[in-house]
Amino acid sequence: MNDIFEKIIAREIPAEIVYEDDDVIAFLDIKPVNKGHALVVPKRHFRNLLDGEEALLGRMIAAAKLVANGIKDATGADGINLVMNNEEAAGQEIFHAHLHVIPRMYDDNAFPAHRHTSYADGEINELGTKIKNAIG
Ligand code: AMP
Repeated sequence: MNDIFEKIIAREIPAEIVYEDDDVIAFLDIKPVNKGHALVVPKRHFRNLLDGEEALLGRMIAAAKLVANGIKDATGADGINLVMNNEEAAGQEIFHAHLHVIPRMYDDNAFPAHRHTSYADGEINELGTKIKNAIG
């Protein structure tokens, strides 16, 4: 498996590690959206949010909170985005789960405005019901 994050976890390739515990590791993204952008990565492999074990996903969020506060203090960021790309269509390029912790400054224009769509009459209720039923 060509899993570059496994190699970072195993110290086979270098990374700027900023946090580590038994379950997760966090290091700086080499192509940051803004400087200080970090990735929080589980040490046990899973693909993304869709197949992640709940306890380990929880550990990732807890680590992301620590890392986010560290980034904010160190960079003076005005805010933080927590982003997770799940599957290729959503922008996932590395298929080992990871959270992006991205420092944001006012007016950095890092993420241009999202496109918005709208629902036809009744469509939001139909879709809400369908999703609720799918969750079970
Ligand atoms: P994603 O598109 O959500 O799969 O994001 C993958 C991220 O991993 C990208 O932002 C890359 O810049 C980052 N990345 C790839 N290789 C490395 C590496 N060796 N060290 C740190 N970050 C990396």
